[in-house]
Amino acid sequence: MKETDLLIIGAGPAGCSAAVYAARAGVKTMIAGGAMPGGQLLQTNEIENYAGFVNPVSGFELMDTMHKQCKRLGVQITTDVITKLEGTQPPFTLTAAGGETYRAKAVLIAAGASARWLGVRGEEALKGHGVSACATCDGFFFKGKEVVVVGGGNTAFEDALFLTQFCPKVTLIHRREGFRADAVTVEKAKQTPNLSMLLNCVVEEVLGPESVSGVVVRNVQTNRVQTVACSGVFVAVGAVPQTAWLRGSAVELLPSGLVKVDAQQRTNVEGIFAAGDCCEEQFRQAVVAAGSGAKAGISAAAYINLHR
Ligand code: NAP
Repeated sequence: MKETDLLIIGAGPAGCSAAVYAARAGVKTMIAGGAMPGGQLLQTNEIENYAGFVNPVSGFELMDTMHKQCKRLGVQITTDVITKLEGTQPPFTLTAAGGETYRAKAVLIAAGASARWLGVRGEEALKGHGVSACATCDGFFFKGKEVVVVGGGNTAFEDALFLTQFCPKVTLIHRREGFRADAVTVEKAKQTPNLSMLLNCVVEEVLGPESVSGVVVRNVQTNRVQTVACSGVFVAVGAVPQTAWLRGSAVELLPSGLVKVDAQQRTNVEGIFAAGDCCEEQFRQAVVAAGSGAKAGISAAAYINLHR
């Protein structure tokens, strides 16, 4: 069993920022970072809106820098995937997928979020055979092929723009006319010759059989159904909080699955805190996650130092 003052679950910007504050307050801090510590940013190609960087930085570089900063301050980062949290008061016991256990005086949940899927026919069966939620990871396999991207947020637009670099034709399919993506990115997309848009349209089926051959699309205004031929379908319709493992614990979740926190990032259980996308309703941005991580780290350190 590993013993620590503070166990942080998640090594994305929220978890790392929390760890920096806790470690600098003299709290023994460990991070269980999951199989690939770094979270969603590892799948982000270029980040231009994280304060402090003159030029765009890759998600990998940003996370690598944060991990090095944590380690310099004495924070141990493991690849354990925590699957169970037990206890209603300190010390809390946490169990990882491989059976490793931790005992911690305080816990900070920064588990992030993962891709939301469409849930349409063909999608599940063709995952890994043309259906993907990560253009940065899988885009290169579609070099020279026609692809579609589903969604109208920043992720969809950035994925579509990224794919235009090596796909002759990229079609962005979005269920309405307005976008959540920022105006600059939308404008860039509109100016890109090999990127077209199908608006007011939903994907109803992904066609195979062995690998993706197209999508069936319905216009929600006219009900017209058409098949768009493509070899790849990139789903970018938002994220769901990675909190299913907390069901059955004492930590209160909202109906959306987000961890319920107060302004100090405290959960309903004394000694358990949360930060980042696993408790963020609206502003799922790396810099916001880092900010809420800082708040949670300060709160958790104050709690531990008060109860020594
Ligand atoms: P998002 O902003 O929540 O957008 C999700 C998109 O998917 C929306 O356009 C939504 O449509 C659509 N959608 C949701 N469920 C759907 C369904 N079942 N079928 C079809 N379409 C569906 O998610 P995101 O793009 O992943 O972005 C998440 C957060 O990260 C945002 O705050 C975003 O700004 C941020 N982000 C920032 C950057 C950057 O600044 N570099 C890059 C990526 C992401 P409706 O609009 O109709 O609801």
